Amino acid sequence: MEFNKEQQIIGLRVLSDNVIWLWKNDKYVVVIDPALSQPVKEYLKANDLKLEAILQTHHHSDHIGGTKELIHEWPNVKVIASAKEKDRIPFQNLSVKHGDKLKLLDEEVEVIEVIGHTRSHLAFYFNNETPVLFVGDTLFSAGCGRVFEGTYKQMYNSLKKIKSLPKNTLIYCAHEYTKSNLLWALDIEPENQTLKKKLIEVKKKIALKELTIPFLLKEELKINLFLRADNLKRFSYLRANKDSWV
Ligand SMILES: [Zn+2]
Repeated sequence: MEFNKEQQIIGLRVLSDNVIWLWKNDKYVVVIDPALSQPVKEYLKANDLKLEAILQTHHHSDHIGGTKELIHEWPNVKVIASAKEKDRIPFQNLSVKHGDKLKLLDEEVEVIEVIGHTRSHLAFYFNNETPVLFVGDTLFSAGCGRVFEGTYKQMYNSLKKIKSLPKNTLIYCAHEYTKSNLLWALDIEPENQTLKKKLIEVKKKIALKELTIPFLLKEELKINLFLRADNLKRFSYLRANKDSWV
């Protein structure tokens, strides 16, 4: 995605379905949830870029696995994570909480706490020409994160926070789960033509080895059953159903 002449966001696929996002200008990079260090290092070296900051949405190893080695290579890098996670993300050096504002790549980035997948999960939002949200494992295209540590109610409220953002927000999540999420959604709503159309589009992209993310909030509001659930009971039913879906 290119928003303007200076800035860009690049996705690096790693592990089975993770995506590491690199938000960059012509000199510096902010990396979001580096599962591994090597692909990040290679990209930065090949393009003669410096690492300005690492944003950590939560403590799972497929989000922080590469951080230590990146700090080793760039000792002055800012490592930004939830102040509630000093034990589980011990190498953080800029601890943040909901509502904090940061300056990164000359943009004001807002910290939004989205609890549910973990007890302190963060998302990072900035409003460039196009508003952008790095959402970690809270929202996926056509799906949402599993509720490991929070309650369904917390996750439901976190999704409400996301829904309140501008409809043209581009959302960058950390996993390529779109196709499987759509197959599940079609099990719930087999006659939904919008979902069927979306599945065809997604299959085409996958065949071309393209990522199906980022996605636009306004498009997602049409296809994501979790975002469309307008009460906690419905949300809880869907989340429980998805947990046992194979
Ligand atoms: Zn996770």
